[in-house]
Amino acid sequence: MSVMADLTPTPDRPGLHISKPSPNAPATGSAVCHCGASATATGDAQVKALVEGYTANHGPAHRNGGTRR
Ligand SMILES: [Zn+2]
Repeated sequence: MSVMADLTPTPDRPGLHISKPSPNAPATGSAVCHCGASATATGDAQVKALVEGYTANHGPAHRNGGTRR
């Protein structure tokens, strides 16, 4: 059993989750949007891109009329 599972977004609980276990470990991220899109990333740069892409196109962006896919 993993505690991480409680923090990982799912279609029932959409959202963005970023984890960085230690300063020397690469960050990992996962995102699930209520529109059905999901993505994961590993590494600081890729996680940053994941966050930027999610916030620009998914999550709150849907409520701003950002419906581009
Ligand atoms: Zn979406």
